[in-house]
Amino acid sequence: MGETPFDDDTLHEECGVFGIFQRPDAAALVTLGLHALQHRGQEAAGIVTFDGTQFHVERHSGLIGDTFTRQSVLERLPGESAIGHTRYSTTGGGGLRNVQPFFAELSAGGFAVAHNGNITNAMTVQRELQRRGSIFSSTSDTETILHLVATSGARLFVDKLIDALSRLEGAFSLVGLVPGKMVGVRDPLGIRPLVLGDFEGSPVLASETCALDIIGADFVRDVSPGEMVIVTENGIESLFPFQARRPRFCIFEYVYFARPDSNIEGRNVYDIRKRIGAELARESKDAADIVVPVPDSGVPAAIGYAQEAGLPFELGIIRNHYVGRTFIQPTDSIRHMGVKLKHNANRSMIEGKRIVLVDDSIVRGTTSQKIVQMVRDAGAAEVHMRIASPPTRASCFYGVDTPETGKLLASRMTVEEMADFIKVDSLAFLSIDGLYRAVNEPSRNAHAPQFCDACFTGDYPTSLTDLEGADNVRQLSLLGGAG
Ligand code: AMP
Repeated sequence: MGETPFDDDTLHEECGVFGIFQRPDAAALVTLGLHALQHRGQEAAGIVTFDGTQFHVERHSGLIGDTFTRQSVLERLPGESAIGHTRYSTTGGGGLRNVQPFFAELSAGGFAVAHNGNITNAMTVQRELQRRGSIFSSTSDTETILHLVATSGARLFVDKLIDALSRLEGAFSLVGLVPGKMVGVRDPLGIRPLVLGDFEGSPVLASETCALDIIGADFVRDVSPGEMVIVTENGIESLFPFQARRPRFCIFEYVYFARPDSNIEGRNVYDIRKRIGAELARESKDAADIVVPVPDSGVPAAIGYAQEAGLPFELGIIRNHYVGRTFIQPTDSIRHMGVKLKHNANRSMIEGKRIVLVDDSIVRGTTSQKIVQMVRDAGAAEVHMRIASPPTRASCFYGVDTPETGKLLASRMTVEEMADFIKVDSLAFLSIDGLYRAVNEPSRNAHAPQFCDACFTGDYPTSLTDLEGADNVRQLSLLGGAG
């Protein structure tokens, strides 16, 4: 997977989690919630239910709609409380043994957990646990949580979980299920999102608000960084069991990951992307005839850019939405023809025009290179590429799939060199302060940075214990990230 460029029609995202407590048809509702979170991971999905006596586990590879919508699968998931997970593995570990939620029968009863984020000391903790006799059945960092809970000396489940999570570094937004309880936890920095909702009186936890909308649940609030919410039949209890830290939510969720119709921490993602586009236009407007997004990721920023620059917004590139990751080109000779599976230029819109091409980010540069060539082949007079984020210079160790730093175009080249590489007439990225302005901060350093922006700045807000001594590691979770 390390060699896979990002233009292979898979979204290499993180993971999505969803849970609902005491509600008939719980598994079907989780299926719908996970479908809304499909953009956060397409590799595999799982649901665990509790029927008041026992747990039921179903984990399948592929899209939610291809597996969990089958009646036979839902029939194997009885019970009124359920949690689910949709997965994109950040490294290594394909295969069903890494598909979440993880479930184990512990001495105190069953425990299921679904996790979004990457734990940056999982490997170190795992080695220590193995030395003391723990046996791991997956290569996922999430399994470490189960083992830490199982081996905690605390008496009550909630204390065991607090004990376990206090040992971990990095990013975790998770939902857990034990008999009579559902829990939701965000790491002290709140790197990944998690929201609390209410579906006709039944509490819901979800990675993003779009997953509440799909079932018609009301948004209650974001789970706060460092917060643990404990849902029981007596209501919802909130604890802040970890040492308080200044929150650092992932700013790349606003740039690319989250769905545009989601609201995170009081901000609408689509609105932020338009504001990003407007900032970009203010910073690097060029004489041009039309603004064209690279669909879909560049669309909201291109709208914001066009509005700010007073230029027409045009769909000069059309995306085919039916290209799945399993689409295999039938023969070798066709493969070598460079068939345009995913994007095609809308020639009548582009020919003879000076184009501002807007995309959200450049990672390896492969996508931009291909798209620019396509737009030139369609007769563009000039191509001015505008990127709705600062150059991506450093790998993410918190659950976003990025290649190792050396494979990031911006880690090897200046902006001028990148412009030559992708063959554009001009290239500009949004500045880091421009990005902060778009999320309503005066600048990055006006106060201490309010977000995790490590992919742009290399400033990692947690220690990276597993990385120490490892050379050129692509993703920290060598165990195979939870995503
Ligand atoms: P490339 O420069 O060819 O590696 O791909 C860059 C494009 O991939 C961007 O325009 C984004 O739309 C998308 N992208 C950015 N980050 C990621 C990521 N972590 N996983 C998958 N796609 C991404």
